[in-house]
Amino acid sequence: MIKGSTRLVAIIGSPVVQVKSPENFNNAFAQAGSDVAMIAMDIPSDGIDAFLSLARTWQNLDGFVVTIPHKQAIASGIDSVTQRAALLGAVNVVRRGADGQLIGDMVDGLGFVRAAESHGFTPNGREALVIGCGGAGSAIAHALCEAGVSVLAICDPDAQRVGRLASALAAEFPQISIATEIGDHSRYDLVANATPLGMQAGDPLPLSAPAIALLKPTAHVADVVTSPEVTPFLAAARARGLSIQTGPEMARAQLGLLGAFMGVLSPGD
Ligand code: NAD
Repeated sequence: MIKGSTRLVAIIGSPVVQVKSPENFNNAFAQAGSDVAMIAMDIPSDGIDAFLSLARTWQNLDGFVVTIPHKQAIASGIDSVTQRAALLGAVNVVRRGADGQLIGDMVDGLGFVRAAESHGFTPNGREALVIGCGGAGSAIAHALCEAGVSVLAICDPDAQRVGRLASALAAEFPQISIATEIGDHSRYDLVANATPLGMQAGDPLPLSAPAIALLKPTAHVADVVTSPEVTPFLAAARARGLSIQTGPEMARAQLGLLGAFMGVLSPGD
């Protein structure tokens, strides 16, 4: 039950009816016996400035999770961001300091890597392909570089996005080979769909069926799409006997990271 003493965190997006974070966080708070609650706030884009002003003065607010479409706007409206959030130009979590300062980070990519590790996939020294260089794809690409992949290939029909991300990653990780062409599909240990393809019935596959047929038998195949849980891309990979990782697994793996950044859960939750 929310009481006068309850510390609050929020999830900010628009719309928010579909978000799972309030259930997941409030269950975790109940299990931990903490007097903290998460609320969902549906704030349109033209309300973000007013929301950030309110958040700075909101004494019993410890932070907020940020979802579509505000990850970029909030990154540029808060007081400071981590180095990776600065590089990615986006945040998915904000902590409110006791002085009202708002500090942001982006842990989408870390959640992805955690979920992969829970499948026994170790990125260090491996070759990875990330399809899609938007918010999720950039964060995953960055986290895979932090986790030590030897080769990272990225692709997106938006050539400017590909070029910007490749340059930023090459500057931060000069030891990693960053490719902007897919080349030989059979070389990859990890293939991630970081596009929305698969959300709508009839979407094309992010990688064609003949390309999926070329993936190596030990490849780990992941998707960011949360609904359906098993996308047609993952179903095709599973039909080939490949190891698969779903979007909800990536989301669940972030709970402790988001909560720890706001100071309301531990990273292992
Ligand atoms: P976005 O719009 O920022 O990026 C999507 C990118 O995919 C764009 O750059 C687009 O050009 C690219 N793209 C589209 N078709 C492509 C194709 N055929 N090949 C290569 N690239 C292609 O969106 P986003 O914020 O990155 O979200 C992408 C998906 O990830 C959404 O479905 C979102 O719900 C999901 N997501 C999941 C989690 C999670 O925890 N599971 C977290 C964040 C986002």
